[in-house]
Amino acid sequence: MTIQTKRQYKIYINGEWTESIEGQYGNVVNPATEEIIADIPLCGEGDVDKAVEAAGNAFKTWKDTTPKERSLVLLKLAEAVEENIDRFALLESKNVGKPVDVAKSDVNGFIDILRFYSGAARNLQGLSTGEYLENHTSMIRREPVGVVASITPWNYPLAMAGWKIGPALAAGNTVVLKPSELTPLTTLLLAEISDGILPPGVLNVVTGYGEIVGAALSKHKKVQMISLTGSVRAGMAVAREAAQTLKKVHLELGGKAPVLIFDDADISKAAAGIKTGAFYNSGQDCTAATRLYVSEKIYDQFIDELVSSVQNINVGDPMEPGVEMGPLVSKAHRERVHGFVERAKKNLNVQVLTGGEELNQRGFYYKPTVITGVKQSDEIVQEEVFGPIITVIPFSNDEEAIEKANDCKYGLAASVWTSSIDRAMNMTKQLDFGAVWTNTHLSIVSEMPHGGSKFSGYGNDQSIYSLEEYTNIKHAMIKFQ
Ligand code: NAD
Repeated sequence: MTIQTKRQYKIYINGEWTESIEGQYGNVVNPATEEIIADIPLCGEGDVDKAVEAAGNAFKTWKDTTPKERSLVLLKLAEAVEENIDRFALLESKNVGKPVDVAKSDVNGFIDILRFYSGAARNLQGLSTGEYLENHTSMIRREPVGVVASITPWNYPLAMAGWKIGPALAAGNTVVLKPSELTPLTTLLLAEISDGILPPGVLNVVTGYGEIVGAALSKHKKVQMISLTGSVRAGMAVAREAAQTLKKVHLELGGKAPVLIFDDADISKAAAGIKTGAFYNSGQDCTAATRLYVSEKIYDQFIDELVSSVQNINVGDPMEPGVEMGPLVSKAHRERVHGFVERAKKNLNVQVLTGGEELNQRGFYYKPTVITGVKQSDEIVQEEVFGPIITVIPFSNDEEAIEKANDCKYGLAASVWTSSIDRAMNMTKQLDFGAVWTNTHLSIVSEMPHGGSKFSGYGNDQSIYSLEEYTNIKHAMIKFQ
């Protein structure tokens, strides 16, 4: 079944496109043109009930499929998305404002994670048997959790949907997926493509506001696990609501990645790596390279290289070939980002070396920005801006670099730039983050986990670790004579 009109979408429950009970709609805007490109249902609790019921019914049979059967279904879904890769990439670009090549790489990420979990489904194992009491054999079964609710953010809508549904479905769960109200279009296209590949009710998509739809999913008695990628505020709300039913909670929240550049680093490579690490996806990335700490021995030289490479970023229409950075996702978000810069400038030592303002054209564009003269305790150094903003602070020795890098409420990702393997390993050991890169930033692979600590949340996406999180462990013990 296909969606009838592009302007007004429906929700996808039990393999059917249905109207929301609420009858309310919200606008979806193209951030590069400021045009309304679609209307989506603003669902309510009744819609969530229907979706959860459909997922619960589908679970009764999906849980009993073999890993091989689920694996083949996931492969088929990956293939169907690949056949439609340009459609997905253009739609993602239009809805999020990301350059088409970036959007295409997101779609490829989605395809790859599904293929990874297709293989992983067949390798999910409990522990081998053991005899811990005489004539008693123990074994561990890994069983699906049940109905999983997945809530995704607007920065990588399709890729995040893959991180959620890949392991959930591979492990034998069924899903109710709620995309961000700002960027639901590729998730709805995914539902369309999945029709006929996934049995009805295995994947359901409901749209609308987090405070209503997300909250209803979080507290729902028949949802056994909830996984959210989003802000700390939303993560806390989900954890609070989920506590009412003590369901499993998985939270991938914000970040404020420190970047340590030592005097033995290759300065040109570091400046180029940070340009990508900080400004990819307009800096709207939870692992974005935003907090730079640079050895004072190379500070001036590094700043020169960095600023010239940042000034060369091609900002513009995401549909144009060669454009590296599109707009921010919304007007409100651009105002939020600019607010950080304005407040930072109240400190008279602060210098905006480049950027710090909107682009004077239609669309929610903001110039790539480099800021120096900030203090460690400044809001712009401590809080997640989620935009194309870098702050740079010099350091005089390794201890100071570590101390400043760890002095932050987030614990998602960090990077170290050095030519010394000893220094890289010492830094990796001491940095309190879920991922530590050396001489690279933002590199992710389906095989390795992505997750954080502290205010960045708990649990992991990607990898076999995530698959395990979507299971319950059962101890089976058999006494024999
Ligand atoms: P957001 O928290 O506003 O929204 C994320 C999702 O949560 C949306 O679908 C939204 O509707 C929903 N939501 C909002 N309030 C909710 C509530 N009270 N209950 C349930 N659901 C609710 O975040 P965003 O602005 O879409 O995304 C940006 C944030 O996501 C940033 O903080 C970023 O760091 C984080 N993020 C984290 C990762 C990661 O892997 N750690 C990846 C991408 C984005």
